[in-house]
Amino acid sequence: MNGSFAARLAELRAQIDEELRACGREPGSVRIVGVSKRQPAAAIAQAALAGLDAIGENYVQEAAKKFADPAVRELHLEKHFIGHVQTNKAKALLELFDVVQSVDRPDAARALGKAAAAAGRVLPVLLQVNVSPSERFGVAPAEAGALAGAVAAQPGLRLDGVMAIGPLGADRDQIARAFELAAKTFAAVGGSTLSIGMSGDWREAVRAGSTMVRIGTALFGGRSK
Ligand SMILES: *Cc1c(COP(=O)(O)O)cnc(C)c1O
Repeated sequence: MNGSFAARLAELRAQIDEELRACGREPGSVRIVGVSKRQPAAAIAQAALAGLDAIGENYVQEAAKKFADPAVRELHLEKHFIGHVQTNKAKALLELFDVVQSVDRPDAARALGKAAAAAGRVLPVLLQVNVSPSERFGVAPAEAGALAGAVAAQPGLRLDGVMAIGPLGADRDQIARAFELAAKTFAAVGGSTLSIGMSGDWREAVRAGSTMVRIGTALFGGRSK
């Protein structure tokens, strides 16, 4: 990739602000989470140095290894888990992450709630809502209210909003409609965070009301296999 991470981050922030102004929203009202899956620990260190303050990872083992790396260990980064929640990894998720964006079923809420209570913490979580036929995980929008209830029943969890993945390879209209459905579900569930938008679809997400985008390749470049 050309240029420095800092230059790409500045460019992305400027483009997002431009899109926000174009739809009558406040510049600076979208948070950027840098998605560092399958990027080396050194890339995370570089990102933090460039001023990125939040990163997302999809895999527990990979995150554990990179977060323990001397280049990353001391950094002040908010760590978001954006992968599939396995109930037997709840304790590890609590140890590694500040936020879990991908609660998609009552079992996951219960396991995380139990682990959070045992750790004496209140873990901020988002409901992962499925708005795309190409997406395997996520609660159906119609079931989101029931899942919100399961989260509310856990004193160790705090429900902050909704996360969704847009339909990959879909046309722009389909992407926009999927994000509108995510926004509607967010309005019903409540909270402060609507996490929608990735490298290829953040413009549609911002237009639909995104407050948080999760950006991998547009910031970090291509991923290793
Ligand atoms: C990989 C991933 C991203 C980032 O995708 P890019 O297209 O590289 O920006 C965002 N969210 C989730 C849940 C992901 O798995």
